[in-house]
Amino acid sequence: MNTATKPHVLVLGGNFAGLSSAQKIREYAGESVDITVIDRKDYLLFVPNIATDVFENRDPSLHQRMQLRPALAADDIHFIQALVQHVDIDARMVNFLPFERPGEASESLHYDYLVVALGAHLAYDRLPGFAEHGHTVSDLFHGERLRRYLFEGGYRGGPIVIGAAHFHQGDGAEGLQPYPGGSIPYLKAACEGPILEMTTAMASWLTRTGRGTPEKITVFTPDEMIAADAGVKNVEAFLRMITGMGIHYRNNMPDIAQLTAEGIEFVGGETLAAEIKLILPDWVSHECLRDLPICDSRGFIRTNLLMRNPEHPEIFAAGDCASVTMPKIGGIGHQQAELVGRQIALDMGRMDAEEANQALRPVTFCIGDMGEGRAFYVRSNSWFGGHDDVLKMGRVPYRLKMSYRDLFFLTHGKMPGFGLNIAQFAAERVF
Ligand SMILES: Cc1cc2nc3c(=O)[nH]c(=O)nc-3n(C[C@H](O)[C@H](O)[C@H](O)COP(=O)(O)OP(=O)(O)OC[C@H]3O[C@@H](n4cnc5c(N)ncnc54)[C@H](O)[C@@H]3O)c2cc1C
Repeated sequence: MNTATKPHVLVLGGNFAGLSSAQKIREYAGESVDITVIDRKDYLLFVPNIATDVFENRDPSLHQRMQLRPALAADDIHFIQALVQHVDIDARMVNFLPFERPGEASESLHYDYLVVALGAHLAYDRLPGFAEHGHTVSDLFHGERLRRYLFEGGYRGGPIVIGAAHFHQGDGAEGLQPYPGGSIPYLKAACEGPILEMTTAMASWLTRTGRGTPEKITVFTPDEMIAADAGVKNVEAFLRMITGMGIHYRNNMPDIAQLTAEGIEFVGGETLAAEIKLILPDWVSHECLRDLPICDSRGFIRTNLLMRNPEHPEIFAAGDCASVTMPKIGGIGHQQAELVGRQIALDMGRMDAEEANQALRPVTFCIGDMGEGRAFYVRSNSWFGGHDDVLKMGRVPYRLKMSYRDLFFLTHGKMPGFGLNIAQFAAERVF
């Protein structure tokens, strides 16, 4: 690595937003920059497909990891496996702790450009009783724990409650207008597509395994409408379908006070009886970023719609750690990584302003497993002020969900544009 002669781009985080940003910077800025990625783990965790493995009785740790090192080395991107500890914005330095073995000494690295893509802290540690009584599918450990519970005799046939803790969105996206007259509104849950997915996949699991009927399930949301970012018309159709199956739906729920053996206790005292409590927590900003002057009122990184911090144009954010990323979904992080690559190429004189300065127009794009080889497909931008609301359900979206992961791994995360266009075409036109 020759940081003395070329500007050094330091990317913090190597999952969806970090990997994709580093690759896009290399694609658009070419060899004009040196790039380093730091992540605490050296693989990409393919979060969206963990639930499918769980409900289809596969250990997700065997299928939902992609090695980062070869993917980055192919693009001459340096990788450091380390825990990011502190960012010194004035000195343009990042402190990190090499993370492969215990006992390492803290080190530091200088940057000319910083791309923050550290995601968020999924705060199960703020949910009293979660460790003893809760389940989730956001990582390999919890996914495997739930799979064993379901398939190795843990489930006793009791009620199942699925929902999200309250999210506390900061003020960092206020005033941004992604579509004419639109905005990034407030959500009380960070990411509810997976809640819908777990609900339909669980209903299918109950029926398929003869463990019960969908009436055992209650799904709840802290918001007026669950997953409103997927488009009001889409969600209304989805709710008609699941309530028609007998699934109970509760909206405007207070925050979770605690999980117990008997169920979920909400702030204010209401309880929902549940044997299985399938929960997504609050998405909280990382402690190592929270107090930086580039953060909003909740510690998420403030950017404009080109993903640059307004006061520090050498700093970018992409993915879940950015204020503008609402809901917190990987698809939006991917759109942002494209913009980061273009902006750095602009600064390097490798792209003209017209091509580079195309602001973020977020789209909620989500494919959720419904069990038995079926899935729902959502493409919507109406929540942000756009006019598109597409909802499809069936076998084609399920095949797309599986082939997207396969293509992602095959291409080391460099999804060809035509692949995405074909996916959209297949889902929206073919059936
Ligand atoms: C159950 C579930 C299902 C989902 N399904 C979908 C879906 O179908 N479609 C969709 O678009 N989105 C989905 N999402 C959301 C999606 O997973 C996230 O939006 C996406 O992972 C965000 O990518 P990111 O790179 O910003 O953050 P992350 O994926 O969280 O990655 C952050 C990276 O930073 C690293 N890191 C964090 N802190 C440090 C530190 N201090 N030092 C070093 N490294 C650090 C982590 O190791 C990680 O690799 C789902 C989420 C969940 C929980």
